[in-house]
This record gives sequence, C-alpha cells and structure tokens, in this order.
Amino acid sequence: MTVDGGAYAEIVVDLPVGQPLTYRVGEAGEEARAGACCVVQVGRREVMGVCVGRSARAPVAEERIRPVKRWLGEIAPLDAHWLSFTCFAAEYYQYGWGQVAVPALPPLLREPPGPRWGASLRRVRQSGGTAAGDPPAPPAVPDANAEQRAAVEAIAAGDCFAPTLLHGVTGSGKTEVYLAAIERLLARDPLAQALLLVPEIGLTPQLQGRLHDRFRGQSIVCLHSGLPAAERSAAWLAAHEGRARIVLGTRLAVFASLPALRLLIVDEEHDTSYKAADGIRYSARDLAVKRAQMLGVPVVLGSATPALETWEQAARGRYRLLRLPRRATEAAQPQVELIDQRQHKPANGLSEPLREALEQTVARGEQALVFINRRGYAPVVSCAACGWLSACPKCAVFAAFHKTDGALHCHHCGWRSRVPRACPTCGNQNLEAVGQGTQRLEETLAAALPAARILRIDRDSTRRRGAADAALAAVHAGETDVLVGTQMIAKGHDFQRVSLVGIVNADAQLVSHDFRAPERLFATVVQVAGRAGRSGLPSRVLVQTRFPEHPLFAALRRFDYEGFARSQLAERRAAGMPPFIPQALLTAQARTLETALAFLGQARALGQTMAAAATLYDPVPMPLARLAGVFRAQMLIEAPRRGLLQAFLREWLQRLREGRSPPGSRVQWQIEVDPQEI
Ligand code: ADP
Ligand code: ZN
Ligand code: ZN
Repeated sequence: MTVDGGAYAEIVVDLPVGQPLTYRVGEAGEEARAGACCVVQVGRREVMGVCVGRSARAPVAEERIRPVKRWLGEIAPLDAHWLSFTCFAAEYYQYGWGQVAVPALPPLLREPPGPRWGASLRRVRQSGGTAAGDPPAPPAVPDANAEQRAAVEAIAAGDCFAPTLLHGVTGSGKTEVYLAAIERLLARDPLAQALLLVPEIGLTPQLQGRLHDRFRGQSIVCLHSGLPAAERSAAWLAAHEGRARIVLGTRLAVFASLPALRLLIVDEEHDTSYKAADGIRYSARDLAVKRAQMLGVPVVLGSATPALETWEQAARGRYRLLRLPRRATEAAQPQVELIDQRQHKPANGLSEPLREALEQTVARGEQALVFINRRGYAPVVSCAACGWLSACPKCAVFAAFHKTDGALHCHHCGWRSRVPRACPTCGNQNLEAVGQGTQRLEETLAAALPAARILRIDRDSTRRRGAADAALAAVHAGETDVLVGTQMIAKGHDFQRVSLVGIVNADAQLVSHDFRAPERLFATVVQVAGRAGRSGLPSRVLVQTRFPEHPLFAALRRFDYEGFARSQLAERRAAGMPPFIPQALLTAQARTLETALAFLGQARALGQTMAAAATLYDPVPMPLARLAGVFRAQMLIEAPRRGLLQAFLREWLQRLREGRSPPGSRVQWQIEVDPQEI
C-alpha cells in the first residue's frame, strides 16, 4: 500500500469503516505523505482524515475517486510509530483505524478547519508548553533509600522494552522513583520525552507542583479532557513537535503523538479510570505497555494494590517486580481495626467506637477522614405503609434523596424531581430517607461532634470551578477537623495531619455481584488508609462491617496484598475467570428489553454457526437494565486464548455490521474487549 509518490492517498476517518478510504492526492507535493492530516469529503460531509499511505493503483474506477480537499501542511506528519500504534489499538479493540486515530487528535484538529484556522493555530502554538518558571530555589530532593535506588537503577538502566511493576505501599516513595527515572533519562538524552499517566489530574495539584519543582526550565505539559480546547491543543502540539519533555496526562494521553518517547509510567495502574467508560473501551494501562513494546522502551506500572491482571503477569515473570515495602518517611503504616456492626449498631451510619475515636482525634488537634462511597443524603426514600420506593422513571435504579435541594436525583441519568409530599401510591405523608450518603453522614457527624469543624467533599460540593481546590486547601491549612467524602478524598492527597480514617459502608462492595468487587474494595481501603499518618502521627483505620470474619479483612489488617492476590487469583483460576481467560462483552441498547435481548440472541446464533473456539453465553439484561429510558442487555464471549478470541471477533463483528436488523427494531450495539464490569 505504501508506494511513495503513488497517485492515491489512503485516508482513515472517524467512521466505522473497515478499510482506509482512497482519495486522489491531487496537486499536493511533499505534504501528501503518511501521517499527514487532511480534510476529505465523505458522502456530503467534510471530515478530518489522517493519511496512512500512498498507493499507485485505484481500487475503483478513477473517475469515482475524489481528491483530498486540503492537506494540513502546517501540522508535521504523525510518525510511523504513532500510525502503527493507533492501528494496533483499533484492531485490538475491534474498531476502525480512523475511529482511534482521529479522536486521538486534539480538539482543534478533529473538525475540518474554518477559513481563519491557520492564524488560530499559530496562536495555539505560541502558547504551547509551560516551561516551569525560575526561582524560588527547588525544595530539597530526599536521598533515595536502597530500594528506591535499586528501582531507579533497574528502570533507567535499560533502553529496551522492560515492563516493570513497582509495587509499593502508599507513601513508599514511588513518585520519587518516577521522578528520578525521568531525571536520569533526560540527563542521558536531553531531547527524550517521558509520558506519566495518572488516573485523575484535577485532584492532584501536588504532583504537578512536584514535577515543576523538580524539572525547572523543562517544558511540562498536561493533557486531560478538563482542559479548554485551545489549551489542550497547545499541549498536544508541544508534545507532537517534540518541545515538551514531560507529558502528564490522564488515559487519553496514551494516544499523544510523542516522537521522542523513551519512558512510560502509569501511576496507580490498578485504577479503573484507565479504562474508558464510553466510546472505544480501551485500557490506557494495557496500551501503554503495548506502546512501550512497539518502541522498545521501558514502562513502569506503579501501585500499592496492582490489578490482579498485572500481578499475574509479574508472577509469571513477564513483568519485572520491584518492591518498596516500607513508607519512605519515618511514618509507620496505620493500624487497621474492624468495628463489628452486629455489636456496635451504627446510628445514622456512625457506630459508637468510631464516634469516640473521632472525638479523641479532634481533641488532640489532629484531623480525621470519613469515607463513604455514596453521595447525596440517602440512596432511597421509602413509604413504610405500602413499601413504595423512590425510583428514577427512566432508569432501573433508585433515585437518591439530596437534602441540599430537597430533591430526588438519579445518579445515572441526571433526572431530578422534588420529593413528593406524600407517597404517590398510598398517600401516606411520612416518607422516610433510607440509608446513608455523604450529606447525611455530614449531618450525623455535626450532631455527634458539636465542637468539630466538618467539611464534605464530593461531586456535588465541588461542582463549582475551583471549589475542590479551595476545599482541599482548607484541609491542608488545618481549617477542618473532620473531612467526609467519597472516592474524591481517597486519591493521592498528602494530608499531613490526618491520623484517623473511618470507612463506614465497606459491606456494600463485599456483597456485590461483580467478581472484581473484592479486588476493588481491597484497593479502596488501602488507598483511603494511605491518607493516614503520613507525617508520622500514630494512626488508625476503622472499618465498620457486619462481616468481620471475611478473609479479605484478615489480609487487609496485615496489609497483605500479596496473600490476598494469591488467594483471589487461585479462585479465579479455578473458576476460569480473567486473567486466565480473555473475555469480550457485546452490549445492545433498544427501546424494549425484548428487542435488545433478541438482537443478542441473533448475534449469538450467528456466532455459533461459525466454526470457532469461542463460547457465547446467554444474553442477559445488564446490571443497570434501563438507563435514561433505554433498555440494555449484554452477552459475554470467551475463548481459550487471546488470538482465538480476536480472530473470532473480527469475523463475527464484520458479519454483524453487514447484517441488517429488521426495520423498526433499531438496536445500537458495542463490543468491549477485556470488559471490567460484567
Ligand atoms: P508514593 O508515590 O509511593 O505514595 P511519594 O513518592 O509521594 O510516595 O513519597 C511519600 C513521601 O515521602 C513524600 O513526602 C516524599 O517526599 C517522601 N519521600 C520519598 N522518598 C523519600 C526518601 N528516600 N527519604 C525521605 N522521604 C522520602
Ligand atoms: Zn405508600
Ligand atoms: Zn435515571
């Protein structure tokens, strides 16, 4: 296909087409080459495209082939590695090449440019890349301990593909290792680029600060979806043009164009935000490893609680395992204790032992953090007389009660409505808020600890721009005694005076139907616990539970991730579950559940006629069977080996795309390779 100078250009666009489209190169010269961005017409629309090669022969009659509308010579072509990498990702996740390549371009390059485009980009380019300012003098870099030195040595020594799992408890100095490895790389090769992926940027200004302090005068850019389009495009260009040395980004940054990429780091590699939740369901962690392999460069996956998929790779010797078993500072690991809820029945979510511990902590002038993974006041409102429960009219879920606005909220589709004055079914006026959310816990804590200053941090309290930063600043400044919140308070923060962590509803995850739930619970508790005792204060983690005998808690109390991982993996091996078998999930959405299930049934029948090693399970409603008025069903697909699964999916999906669904039955469907939630 890549005959240079051929009269035709092969172009990929963001549409579900199996093959690149062919266009005439036209009058273009130099700029019409593989990797070049261009504008082409598809049907009646003009869309962005990426040229993936030239060819000399026309696939159809010459006169049916359109010319490329415009070559964007202002943008340097994407390199051959980037093209093969996006091609790999598309094949692996069963999408069109252009469906990966074009959305990977920055916002300003995804739409065909208007007439004034040239000028505005130029402007973007000038603002690109924030070189860290000069003084004040950088804070001292701690002397690396023996384990850190060994880790940096091992990572920085090679310039070949060497996947490394850096398993270190929170506060063990993993970030120090990343920074030192980048430092070593840039000392050896000042024009090299490093990619540092994090689950979430907005909530971790500390990491940005550390990077800027450490790499003064070097260009560091951030890439994440929260950036304004112009800023993100500028950052993308700085990376693409090799001006940025370090790219700090969320999952989408794994697709950044980085011509001098020599080191990839995935922090908190187990975090579920590395898996895209809509569109192409890629795993940025898995793709980072693949990208490193294609480039022949080192990749580091760091975590206190690695994903079991990753742990298994290390156990098999495919990833090198490096351990940081101790906290880097003098601080001891907090002590994990269980509060048996059967003996200490919580009142409005708070048990007496936890209340007492909070009181003592506040009295000592220290801070506490109370974690609950549910926002709102209560997850449901009920009528004790007839059993009515508040539900979202458009989703198959309860509607949560928010006291802040006196309304019922659906946390899935955003529906909201005032709480009815009386039960809509029987007229009873005594409706009851059942269960706990952050708002109610905040209220309970305020009543139980009248002397304490309490602050809630969740998605609702931080909706305003800057609100999250302000709240976190208040904690750091010591203006808060007890912080109550969701996952948002668990990630990454270095709260110096927190010496007590309370976890109030861990059980919700213990009894989940998802086989990954224990793994996630373990990771969450370790992560929340990691917020305690960072500056050396003796600290405790109190977990309220009705199942104190559960083996997961025994492992947690010893911070025994390895033991936990071994037993979980043994269970998964026995049950034939990932990572011991590759899976894919076909999901369908339709106006009725029957239609969605029927579509999957047909797809299954089609799959079964193909002589393949794949197993297609019964179609079932999704755990959230109705979302925003749309019914959803799913079907699990397995094969004994990855290659067999990929080959089956390719052929099967091709035939599904060609097939026509009966008129009026309009079904939307997606494939997800390596699904994380089943
Ligand atoms: P992690 O990323 O594993 O949570 P960090 O790299 O953030 O750990 O380190 C935790 C804290 O310990 C930070 O305040 C850091 O400055 C400090 N630290 C890291 N390494 C050392 C060291 N070798 N000696 C002293 N302090 C260290
Ligand atoms: Zn009722
Ligand atoms: Zn809803």
